[in-house]
Amino acid sequence: MITGHTAVFALIGSPVAHSLSPAMQNRWFAEHGIDAVYVALEVPPDGALAPLLGALDGVNLTIPHKLAVVPLLDDAGPDVLATGAANAVVRREGRLIGRNTDVDGFGRAVDELALDLDGAHAVVLGAGGAGRAVMLALARRRIRRVSVLNRTVPKALEAVAAMGLAETVDVHPLTAQAFGEVCGDASLIVNATSGAGCDAIRGFEVVAAPTGAGWVDLNYWMADPPCLERARAAGYRVQTGHRMLLHQGAIAFELFTGSSPTVLPDAPSQ
Ligand code: NAP
Repeated sequence: MITGHTAVFALIGSPVAHSLSPAMQNRWFAEHGIDAVYVALEVPPDGALAPLLGALDGVNLTIPHKLAVVPLLDDAGPDVLATGAANAVVRREGRLIGRNTDVDGFGRAVDELALDLDGAHAVVLGAGGAGRAVMLALARRRIRRVSVLNRTVPKALEAVAAMGLAETVDVHPLTAQAFGEVCGDASLIVNATSGAGCDAIRGFEVVAAPTGAGWVDLNYWMADPPCLERARAAGYRVQTGHRMLLHQGAIAFELFTGSSPTVLPDAPSQ
């Protein structure tokens, strides 16, 4: 029962109506007997974050607030400082503690594919918040080289330099030609572009997968992520963004409550 003592957590972003996070977090609160509720709040780009952060017990942040929240934090974790983005904030004794759960969330998800990434080459499409988290997670997995394809090349170059990854990451435009040139020996291809970016990718040619290669699309909310079915047919081990969503949510739940939820092998059904 919701009372005056119930802790209130929220996803803050725009849009948020498609989000699976309320179902996920509320199920875990119930399973752990925690008196808390999690809701999705539609907050436009110019919406004031500080009053929300001061009133709620904790939040997740999605587009367009992951960068804007960083200056408001009292304690920013190392992945926040590296990526310049926070997607989970908890208020503890009046202090705002921010973390980027996308980095380890992607890391835990890609580990489930059991790919051999040691000394491998990976291709990342997109260099926004999610693309940066993917690059950082891959850098921790002894990847030899990452090729990043982005619509705005200078933005990707800036992100790579800011994360100190210039020696292992090369940057290209997001074109079918560049994709064809870099994907041939890739052990892993990750689509981290957002909705409109995915339209640019639909026409890319998907060639036969190198042995044991993986293809991950972070857009869990898309019914038909670009190239995913063709990648499966071409022999890639494919994974939708549900696994990253689940793992980054579990890390946020740990931050909010100090408890670890059970992460089931199947993606959430809602
Ligand atoms: P973001 O910071 O806004 O970055 C968007 C990326 O898409 C940028 O690389 C951007 O390129 C590119 N893009 C946007 N419109 C484009 C267009 N018309 N043509 C070509 N490229 C375009 O977004 P994000 O936070 O990285 O999120 C990316 C996607 O990942 C979203 O759909 C989000 O839902 C999903 N995501 C999933 C999870 C999960 O847990 N599964 C976690 C985080 C994000 P420019 O740099 O040129 O603008």
